[in-house]
Amino acid sequence: MTVNQWRRLVQKKVNDTVNKEIMEESSQKTKLHNISGANAELKNYLKELTWEKSRTVFEVRTNMLKLNSNYGQRDEKCYIRGKQETTRHIFECEGNTVKGLTLEKYKQMIGKEGPQTDDMNSVSQSAEIIRKKMEERSKIKMILNKYG
Ligand SMILES: [Zn+2]
Repeated sequence: MTVNQWRRLVQKKVNDTVNKEIMEESSQKTKLHNISGANAELKNYLKELTWEKSRTVFEVRTNMLKLNSNYGQRDEKCYIRGKQETTRHIFECEGNTVKGLTLEKYKQMIGKEGPQTDDMNSVSQSAEIIRKKMEERSKIKMILNKYG
């Protein structure tokens, strides 16, 4: 997949996710100011993170991190602990030198209405750690594939 195709796919997912969240919000709340409030919150969340970080957050929220298990290969195991390598496992796996992710951070990131503004520093930090962790994992995988 080229970078441009990837960006278009992520952008589409972002729109779908945001629309879905606004629709769900709208169906629960009938007052207009509440709906626009939820909308503003979502926009804030998109505005406050860099492109790279929002992309990472959306990849987590929509199970689009580049893991084989997210792309149809059901039995893909974590190369370190042999557990299934899911999005959640990336937060819980301790087999990296990159630390700082927990199940709580995962829950914070996948919250129904998106990470809230108060937590933005923590979300931003998590996004950075995920990026580093994914880089490290793909390097280790490459070495394992090459040298066994
Ligand atoms: Zn693992």
